Amino acid sequence: MRFLLVMFGFFDLACKGLEPVDHKCRAYLMRCIDNRLNSGFAEIVKLIGLKPKDYDLGSFTGSGKCLLAPWWLAWSRWFVLFEIWQSYKLHRIKEIIVLLHDDCGAYGITDVDEENHSQHYDLQLMRCLLKKTFPIIKFRSGIITGTASGELKLFMNE
Ligand SMILES: [Zn+2]
Repeated sequence: MRFLLVMFGFFDLACKGLEPVDHKCRAYLMRCIDNRLNSGFAEIVKLIGLKPKDYDLGSFTGSGKCLLAPWWLAWSRWFVLFEIWQSYKLHRIKEIIVLLHDDCGAYGITDVDEENHSQHYDLQLMRCLLKKTFPIIKFRSGIITGTASGELKLFMNE
């Protein structure tokens, strides 16, 4: 029932009567599954200002892109929203951080500028969707570059 309330945008109502939690964490961090991000990811997390225990990690193909999936893949949207809801319910996260990255197979765009433009546009859509679904949870996002070279850099949208 609570999950359905969250799905229909009644997040505040769904939060009423939640049990106290054993431990909390600051953020729900979403990243792409791409294995090329693994080696430098700890540094990226530091740049965001998070310690290892500060976040729950969601790793999905294209990161938050699945939140914008077409109707025939709508289950992936629901799944990610469910995961964020679980993170709030269990650990009372205060922010959702979505990280996209360049040269991402989920985007499949070879032109660097076009991919960057498309990702910035998508991050705005994700912000709208997540703020509507989880109004009391802060949203932050960023794009990791240097995926192909291995020299990862982070550009946050604050
Ligand atoms: Zn990717």
